[in-house]
Amino acid sequence: MDIAELRDKILKQERRALARAITLVESARADHRAQASGLLDSLRGAGRQSLRIGLSGTPGVGKSTFIESFGMMLTAQGLRVAVLAVDPSSARSGGSILGDKTRMERLSRDPNAFIRPSPSQTHLGGVARRTREAVALCEAAGFDVVLIETVGVGQSETVVAEMSDLFLLLLAPAGGDELQGVKRGIMEMADLILVNKADGDLKSAAMRTCADYSGALRLLRKRPQDPEGFPKAMTVSALQENGLDQTWEEMRALTSWRKEAGHWATRRADQAQYWFREELRQALLARLQTAEARSVVAALAQDVASGATAPLAAAETALAKLGITNP
Ligand code: GDP
Repeated sequence: MDIAELRDKILKQERRALARAITLVESARADHRAQASGLLDSLRGAGRQSLRIGLSGTPGVGKSTFIESFGMMLTAQGLRVAVLAVDPSSARSGGSILGDKTRMERLSRDPNAFIRPSPSQTHLGGVARRTREAVALCEAAGFDVVLIETVGVGQSETVVAEMSDLFLLLLAPAGGDELQGVKRGIMEMADLILVNKADGDLKSAAMRTCADYSGALRLLRKRPQDPEGFPKAMTVSALQENGLDQTWEEMRALTSWRKEAGHWATRRADQAQYWFREELRQALLARLQTAEARSVVAALAQDVASGATAPLAAAETALAKLGITNP
């Protein structure tokens, strides 16, 4: 594959080149990894700085309906929108949350939109790395907004928040007046909580739920990256396309405030460091998975079991034998 040509085509905003490049970064083959790394390096700083929006919510809250309506609203304003997904469940179910052709049908036909299904991977770490690289490729290809969707499973919200400028939590109206068991950690990550389905019979329940979350958000410790009034809970109807323009207004207001106050750049710098550490961790873990490493570890594990070697000493010996530290 001609990487220089691929790079030029991405910069010319050719969607097929972008799709091919994402396939390249998703490949686990060593030669593809090397090409992907070269491509990403040559694209660094190119293109435009897009707004990266993370979106989380449990299945059925209306994520795809929201992304489609919201995405269509943005493309109607002349903005180019890319949609990516981090789906830790896809390996198990054998299909991805964005794989279903019926999802986001209108948006997928929009020439200003680009939708990419979640890569199927067994490890969240693998999906996360590839999605983050896909974000960089979309940015180089001149997308104004990159939406990164995830289902609320395990660590996937953290991973998505670490590659987003803004993080949205989508909720459905609750039946009673209890909070929907949303983990505090996830609430703390949210910049906007959107209570969807605020229409028809569900409208009053949605408004109550929204009021509950507004109250809960006020109880959270104030974050330095928030202006007055944020994080905020709002009601929307993705189906009836209500509240989407207000949502976009709030996002823009928050973004400009953060840019002016320097928080935007700080967050991106922190995220770059996070991913550097994560890559390092993954690379070290991969070193432990080779056949040689497995046999070294297995032999030392025997010594530890028999009491011939202490665990710490065995770990140090293993690192030295694998050339990770000096003997
Ligand atoms: P996802 O699993 O989070 O992607 O949820 P979907 O977008 O597939 O929506 C799940 C169901 O909720 C579908 O039947 C949608 O039609 C419905 N839904 C989504 N948004 C709304 C909304 O704003 N109002 C109402 N009443 N239903 C909605």
